[in-house]
Amino acid sequence: MMAESEFERALQRLDEAARHVEISPDTMERLRLPRELLQARLTIRMDDGSLKSFEAWRCRYDDSCGPTKGGIRFHHHSTADEVEALAFWMTVKCAVAGLPYGGGKGAVRVDPHELSVTELERLSRAYIRAFARFIGPDRDIPAPDVATNATIMGWMADEYNQIVGQVVPGVITGKPLALGGSLGRDDATARGGFNLLEHLCGRLDLDNGPRRAVIQGFGNAGAHMARLLVDSGWTIVAASDSGGAVFNPQGLDVAALEKIKAAGMSVRNGATGATRQIDPDEMLGVDCELLVPAAFQDLIHEGNAERIRAKVVLELANGPVTPEADALLHKAGVTVIPDILANSGGVTVSYFEWVQNRQGERWTLERVHRELESRMNAQGDIVWKVAETRKVPLRTAAYIVGLGRLTSAIEATTAVISPVAEAAGRRAAV
Ligand code: GLU
Repeated sequence: MMAESEFERALQRLDEAARHVEISPDTMERLRLPRELLQARLTIRMDDGSLKSFEAWRCRYDDSCGPTKGGIRFHHHSTADEVEALAFWMTVKCAVAGLPYGGGKGAVRVDPHELSVTELERLSRAYIRAFARFIGPDRDIPAPDVATNATIMGWMADEYNQIVGQVVPGVITGKPLALGGSLGRDDATARGGFNLLEHLCGRLDLDNGPRRAVIQGFGNAGAHMARLLVDSGWTIVAASDSGGAVFNPQGLDVAALEKIKAAGMSVRNGATGATRQIDPDEMLGVDCELLVPAAFQDLIHEGNAERIRAKVVLELANGPVTPEADALLHKAGVTVIPDILANSGGVTVSYFEWVQNRQGERWTLERVHRELESRMNAQGDIVWKVAETRKVPLRTAAYIVGLGRLTSAIEATTAVISPVAEAAGRRAAV
């Protein structure tokens, strides 16, 4: 049975990991609830002179490993429940990535496509006014997420600077280069996933035979991933977005699709010649070696998981596969590279940006790429090894690694450690 709430579904992963490894009771207790969740009403003046209010949230889930870190999304279906689930995933993701961060997340319940650019700027600034006391370069560091970008991060950083009366570039990442953003942040999520795929290629049995990929969600992460794959010899046979999907067994013209997206249209409009429209759900059943969900949570569920023909699912989105679908994919022999490992390239380059900001440095693109690749490969090896030795899926292995690191941090702050917690923590620490 699918749990009612997104957050409950996210916690099922914790319980699943706890079945395979003893996780310290202190860690389990801390991670069952978010540390802080703040809700605010953002009221802005619209271009037509009217006032309009929007619900907004920021969650600091857990800061045992460092200041909380995570994006802000603008979406018309966002809820507090979703923000908590996403902040929980960020907590484990930052631990798996070995970053000195806890997990956080924010959202505004809005359809950003209905706002003008000036309204969007007022909304972004209102978000920071509402949460300025909650965030900070050593407390909680936002970044882009679904439907937010460098421009929005720039407005937000500027608003924060005005409130505190200082220039604090490390309060937010994913900024424009001119305001202290990092080279390589724009395609970091896709590049990190791509590095991991290349690194694990042999172990995933993807180095021989055809290399066909399907991209579910041709947005920022999905489009960058498509380009990186094509450049290294893959064929993108299908791609979708919220407006529809296109399919061509000979390979889609990724550059043409990027142009269509840049013009504000759906990939559906790329259907010409041998490229035809296809139902986005039907697209999951297309023959391919690699499926990349790069849009939203819960898109692969028990109703459609059995249709998947891919050998490997690489989760660039957060939470795209439900726990029920996970079990079905595992049974069918499909390897899932989980979100908390596969999409950690984004937050890793955010970390590089924060380090540069604090040291007053600027790294070259070459250095960003090199350090990202070496971190992705190292974490990939660690998670793979745990999966192999414990005979668990990669997701469970990633949770074991992340929870082990969280346990070490939590126990390091506790004077009295019960013998059970100590033993469990030692075993979980990887
Ligand atoms: N929103 C991205 C994620 O879900 C990036 C977060 C960050 O850079 O802090 O991982």
